[in-house]
Amino acid sequence: MKQTIEVMVGNIGIGGANPVRIQSMTDTDTADCDATFTQCVELIGAGAELVRVTVNNDAAATAVPEIRRELDQAGYEDIPLIGDFHHNGHILLEKYPEMAASLAKYRVNPGNVGKVKGEGESNFEKIIKIAIKNNAAVRIGVNWGSLEDGVSPTVDAIVESSLKSAEMAVNFGLPKNKIIISAKVSAVPELVEIYESLNEKCDYPLHLGLTEAGTGMKGLVSSSAALGGLLLHGIGDTIRISLTPAPGSARIEEVEACRVLLQSLGLRFFTPQVTSCPGCGRTDGDFYRELAAKINNYVKENSADWAKKYPGSEKLKLAVMGCIVNGPGESAHADIGIHLPGKFEKAIATVHIDGKKHDLIKGDNIFEQFIKILEKYLSEKF
Ligand code: SF4
Repeated sequence: MKQTIEVMVGNIGIGGANPVRIQSMTDTDTADCDATFTQCVELIGAGAELVRVTVNNDAAATAVPEIRRELDQAGYEDIPLIGDFHHNGHILLEKYPEMAASLAKYRVNPGNVGKVKGEGESNFEKIIKIAIKNNAAVRIGVNWGSLEDGVSPTVDAIVESSLKSAEMAVNFGLPKNKIIISAKVSAVPELVEIYESLNEKCDYPLHLGLTEAGTGMKGLVSSSAALGGLLLHGIGDTIRISLTPAPGSARIEEVEACRVLLQSLGLRFFTPQVTSCPGCGRTDGDFYRELAAKINNYVKENSADWAKKYPGSEKLKLAVMGCIVNGPGESAHADIGIHLPGKFEKAIATVHIDGKKHDLIKGDNIFEQFIKILEKYLSEKF
């Protein structure tokens, strides 16, 4: 698989031999330091390795150094803060040097850094010069919703625009190992085509994301379809799943989705994984569903503690299966698996450990007995 150039964003390496990094972006008003700091901490806690904030006006630009200071004081000095700039990025970066210095990466869309025709290139040059002075990386983020004036949003035009902008940045003096490219569209087939083409034509690290992915199920499935195939083929160095959160729901869902995606592809490991079957007419009532839910919840609630107590436990594989059709086989593939007999499932369950039949557990407290076996396994193996 092709290795891209390594770009250091603060202390975090992107591309090269580094793992695929998870990014996220706040949706607070950046000018509200407390709210933005709090959301940054939530996103980092969920697994974001780089956090982007909107820098769109004087108040936001003034707040950025304070947010950086608060993150440093809270022990997050290694988490790079990224500034998201659009039409007035060149003005803000020039006017607020402390803000420019406190960001490890500038996200710039060359298609909209200059509104007046002909100004775009010089505004882009100003941003690049400030990035060089501050040793900041630059993400050249082309988006089919905001290409340069007069350019139609075809796959070829998007690829060409991305590469042309990267070349311009290099000509302005930005080292190649300070450039990351993203070229985002909201349609899965086009996104895949664009990134395959970019992968063929350049060595820059690529930030993947299906832009404006949407809400809930649609956003998750579309993003997974778009990113999954590319990542499996070694394309993509950082990712974001751009979900529209439901009102009142947590912003961290997009970070959790990135983790699940990377782990399901076997690219990174964050938490023990539970394989479970959907159940069918061979399972009795809700008993199997409840057992699967309880085990999943238990793993979710305890995995952070296990990671500290039992290093390596994030690779643990569990199986929870409804009957003897696929139960023994799937359990045997897991490190530790439990399967019910199908009908009569309340009475008895079989546990496999390391591929071998280990125990039969019976009675009303099958969940509790299984958890005891699981905890013992963790303490002995990790
Ligand atoms: S393992 Fe058994 S219960 Fe689960 S889906 Fe397959 S046949 Fe149905």
